Amino acid sequence: MGILSGLSAFGLKNLQDKSIYEEEEKQPEKKQEEEPKKPKILTEADMVYDKTFECPVCGTHFKSKVLKTGKTRLVGTDIDLRNRYDVIDPYKYEVLMCTKCGYAAMPKYFSKVTSSQRKAIMDQISRVITFSVPEGEVYDYEEAISRYTLALACSMVKKDKDSTKGFICLNGAWTVRGYREYLTANGEAEKAQELYQDELEFLGEAYKGFLEARSKEDYPICGMDRYTIDYLVAVLAYYAKDYETAAKIVAGLLNSNMQNDNLKERSRELKDLILTTLKEKKEK
Ligand SMILES: [Zn+2]
Repeated sequence: MGILSGLSAFGLKNLQDKSIYEEEEKQPEKKQEEEPKKPKILTEADMVYDKTFECPVCGTHFKSKVLKTGKTRLVGTDIDLRNRYDVIDPYKYEVLMCTKCGYAAMPKYFSKVTSSQRKAIMDQISRVITFSVPEGEVYDYEEAISRYTLALACSMVKKDKDSTKGFICLNGAWTVRGYREYLTANGEAEKAQELYQDELEFLGEAYKGFLEARSKEDYPICGMDRYTIDYLVAVLAYYAKDYETAAKIVAGLLNSNMQNDNLKERSRELKDLILTTLKEKKEK
């Protein structure tokens, strides 16, 4: 009670029992040993921020979540060159989406829009689309995967290069895989298993895109040199059970004068994997 009791009306109830004037704190007689400071454990929300972009289709300034640089630590790389990081899955944040007109694309390709592509996006996407603007601190996996689907739709409408569409599908597959790993780690193995078909579908479309690009487009393709693309197409062929193509491309890689030791080692491992799979198939 007293003059501070009115504070509760302001929602400041926690202050009403405090004394108005600070009492001098008694110094502890012995100096306590200071505990070593624990490093702050970073969460996903600590690692992203809202960045403002200008939409090349409708001209609106909108916010999209992007990764802060230097906060992630690489913990491994999958057979298809998907990088794994601790704490955060960066592939969740690789699609920019205009919150006004719904145009979506991966950052590298976002602003590259010709006037006819702009018109096509407005006619076939913006006029039709309904969506809710993301409000959370981070993107959840369902949201992230649907952003890839939308980016793919925009890419189809824009009639992008095969490699651009393939790259969206590849990153979409990696995001589905991240989701599956997340679900498995959280006791939802069954749901994770159900999503495997989605991952394979994305990988299959990535295979088609890069296989076409490999014979039609100039290098670098999506920032990758000829050897890296060859390796990637071979892995994707393997996933698609097109073992003949996979084996042929890997043989070409191992006979080439590729200087990248890491990729050479990976190509050898892929060759072994293909041989083992073919052997198992024969035995069945
Ligand atoms: Zn827009």
